[in-house]
Amino acid sequence: MFYICRQMQFFLHYFLHLIFPAAIAYTLGGNRWKKLYLILLATMLVDLDHLLATPVFSACRCSINFHPLHSYYAIAVYFFGLFFRKTRWWSAGLLLHMATDGLDCYLSLKTCA
Ligand SMILES: [Zn+2]
Repeated sequence: MFYICRQMQFFLHYFLHLIFPAAIAYTLGGNRWKKLYLILLATMLVDLDHLLATPVFSACRCSINFHPLHSYYAIAVYFFGLFFRKTRWWSAGLLLHMATDGLDCYLSLKTCA
């Protein structure tokens, strides 16, 4: 169907984690885009839950439902946050993060086989 290698997967992963949020913040955030971009970047701190795992990093391990802040329960909480003005951008960033990690899980089926 399609070909993807580890390097492309790596590039796509960090593009979606670092560059794509800037495009979202710039497109939707008006003159507050820099602050909103920082919020989206700050949601990367959710990856601190990797510190609880052994080993801390494993290239072919799926984060979703493995790490506590990447669990379906946590994702439900992030979704709930979309309904409140004060948490909306944090939730959007966390859900984008989960979608990116989820895509990575899917791609790993091909690249880690
Ligand atoms: Zn993650």
